[in-house]
Amino acid sequence: MTQFSDFGLEPTILDAVRSEGYTVPTPIQLQAIAPILAGRDLLGIAQTGTGKTAAFALPMLHRLIANRKRAPRLACRTLILSPTRELASQIAEMFRTYGRNLPLRVMTVFGGVAIGPQIRQLANGVDVLVATPGRLLDHMQQRTVRLDLVETFVLDEADQMLDMGFILPIRRVVQALPAVRQNLFFSATMPNEIEKLSRDLLRDPIRVAVTPVASTVEQVDQRVIYVAMADKRRLLSSMLRDAAFARTLVFARTKHGADRVVQHLLADGVDASAIHGNKSQSQRERALQGFRDGRTRVLVATDIAARGIDVEGVTHVVNFDLPNVPESYVHRIGRTARAGAGGIAISFCGHEERGMLRDIEKLIRCRIPANDHDLGSAPPLPLRQNSHAPAPQANRPAPHAKRSPPPAANRYGPPAGQRTRPGPRGQLRHGGGGR
Ligand code: AMP
Repeated sequence: MTQFSDFGLEPTILDAVRSEGYTVPTPIQLQAIAPILAGRDLLGIAQTGTGKTAAFALPMLHRLIANRKRAPRLACRTLILSPTRELASQIAEMFRTYGRNLPLRVMTVFGGVAIGPQIRQLANGVDVLVATPGRLLDHMQQRTVRLDLVETFVLDEADQMLDMGFILPIRRVVQALPAVRQNLFFSATMPNEIEKLSRDLLRDPIRVAVTPVASTVEQVDQRVIYVAMADKRRLLSSMLRDAAFARTLVFARTKHGADRVVQHLLADGVDASAIHGNKSQSQRERALQGFRDGRTRVLVATDIAARGIDVEGVTHVVNFDLPNVPESYVHRIGRTARAGAGGIAISFCGHEERGMLRDIEKLIRCRIPANDHDLGSAPPLPLRQNSHAPAPQANRPAPHAKRSPPPAANRYGPPAGQRTRPGPRGQLRHGGGGR
């Protein structure tokens, strides 16, 4: 079996990987590290949660250090484009973690924060620049960055970039890159426009595809609760009183909806915060940090804000509103199945949302088991996820859950640390505590 040590990575990078607790490469790492090290272009069809950041960060760090040189003023040696600020921060953090023993400069450039410090940092030249497209264009216009010396260009979450209207900005960034460079292109799905962009960008790429939509879904114990729209908030509060919901991500369809849910939870004495596009950068970071370090048990998010957020040990995802776009359901519930660990996803379905539920079930090719609920003090949700017995699997027709008395210790599932069920990649790290 291939180990990290078989790739010929710099020993200091291997040390960092080891101290992260990674023992075996994930499928995308197995397929992507060697070709990236060899300088090949790569098309990776992979979602977050598959270990894709390390799949590109480790070989990129190796190449930077193997060909050590100082980036001139304003220049960056590698450029990673990411759709959201949160994801950009996370990617940069991973570069810093894996490259902590290396003399490399890693920086992020995104909007919502002052541009001055970014200009000063860019002026010295950087090795790894992680940017969102809008703010990078600002820097290009102000000539506070030069991209003509980029050696490796990474486009991450390309399909999300398309959804957010970033295709033109990306094309403008690409025009500023040198003709000879390495390109790495990652996308969870390949709609036509993304396929075309990848063809324009990549030269003779290696194609790597991992984690088809269904396999994330398979690792999550999914339930739907049919509930009147007006009763959703009360149901959520009563559910969240159970301490088993140790780290719960709640999805609302709109920013205002997310705020209203948080207000309601706070009024009911449940500690919660919201993360969405109307929040300032520092508010978002504070909310995310509080959720990561366990100060806030409940984070209420919209789809865009949550996409790509990597927080370990999310015990439950609650779809307070069902998403309009069925694919979002898969992205949402994937937040509780990070790197091979299982989790629990509970969807509230109002009468008006039944069509959305049918579309989701069509996409994931299975029926989501229903749970009865009552709004009394002890909602009888037998949502225990047992680490020995397999949970209903998404790709088999799952039986409707029976109403059964909840196990005394925990009605909704064992604590995060005990939840791990050997998934297809049973070797992956799992545990509480955020990065
Ligand atoms: P990503 O898909 O890059 O968002 O990574 C998802 C999670 O998997 C992150 O928390 C990583 O720290 C973790 N991870 C990445 N590679 C490995 C590995 N080989 N073994 C265990 N965990 C990993």
